[in-house]
Amino acid sequence: MELPLRPEIRGLAPYGAPQLDVPVLLNVNENPYAPPAVVVEALAAAVHKAAEGLNRYPDREFVGLRAELAAYLARESGADFLRFENIWAANGSNEVMLHLHQAFGGPGRTTLSFAPTYSMYPEYARDTSTTYVTLPRRDDFSIPVEEASAEIAASQPSLVLLASPNNPTGTALPLNDVRALCDAAAAVDGGCVVVVDEAYAEFRRKGVPSALMLLPEIPHLAVSRTMSKAFAFAGGRLGYLAASVDIIDALRIVRLPYHLSTVTQAIARAALAHVSDLQAQVDEIRAERDETVAWLRAQGYTVADTDANFALFGPFEDREKVFAGLLELGVLIRVVGPDGWLRVSIGTPQEMARFRAALLEVTR
Ligand SMILES: *Cc1c(COP(=O)(O)O)cnc(C)c1O
Repeated sequence: MELPLRPEIRGLAPYGAPQLDVPVLLNVNENPYAPPAVVVEALAAAVHKAAEGLNRYPDREFVGLRAELAAYLARESGADFLRFENIWAANGSNEVMLHLHQAFGGPGRTTLSFAPTYSMYPEYARDTSTTYVTLPRRDDFSIPVEEASAEIAASQPSLVLLASPNNPTGTALPLNDVRALCDAAAAVDGGCVVVVDEAYAEFRRKGVPSALMLLPEIPHLAVSRTMSKAFAFAGGRLGYLAASVDIIDALRIVRLPYHLSTVTQAIARAALAHVSDLQAQVDEIRAERDETVAWLRAQGYTVADTDANFALFGPFEDREKVFAGLLELGVLIRVVGPDGWLRVSIGTPQEMARFRAALLEVTR
């Protein structure tokens, strides 16, 4: 039987990192620490309470959750100017990004990003029939801002996606660069929304600012966050975005009705009430990250400077072989980024010890 598949998806397989049953999982940048017992209790109680009202549709505007996310951002980054009207949320920041494309992308429109970057960006564009254009980053994975501004003028995108810290490189973007790119975007005919994807923000090194602080001065800027990484809540599926009310109101138009289930709202709020328990190991992960980078460099590898909970390292003549060797020893990492590089997520000290031992064995 012939299916009337859209030409853009003909012959494609679903995208996703391999989900393998392996002792040491260092491939999708999860927080390696499961929620502690006190949080598990609170989540279970929240689900119990939510279950009593599941005959009703969820709160479509989820004002309570949005207000608590705003309060969290005020505490985390000093962004105390945010109100619930400035916050949007969905089932992972992946869905938030899709909403952005549904509202601001579409046929005849362009999304611009800077490669190498998050492998989902071209998928949001494809799924909304938006043209996806990339400009290469510099060798140190920073963004060549002048060239980028010229590209914005040339390709007139309606969306510019800036991951900071970037995945898979870990590179954080200086606020002056964000500002300059927003200036270039302001000159686009018909408007352009600049999205800074801060999925890894909580892991940034001391002194590295968040683009949230630019929101009051830049109405066409949006900053996306997620509970998947620092919150140890990847399975909870809660991503969110801070932006001007005009941007949020556009996303409210394209969302499916009741897209955030009562259960999701309830567990996200319970998790936010226990943020210090959930993020208890973030400092430890940052320290482990810095030690991992130092160790890899001491072994002679090149490692990209990283403000995230992973490190991109290389070069390897045959990275697939190193990846397979590690997997055989029970350590799953990720083949991603430019040819010759590998990415390892930061796990517990025990997991990183196994990673180091395995890498030494595989490359001996
Ligand atoms: C992990 C990650 C996300 C998070 O996606 P969720 O849908 O919130 O789990 C977003 N952006 C980047 C760049 C990521 O690496």
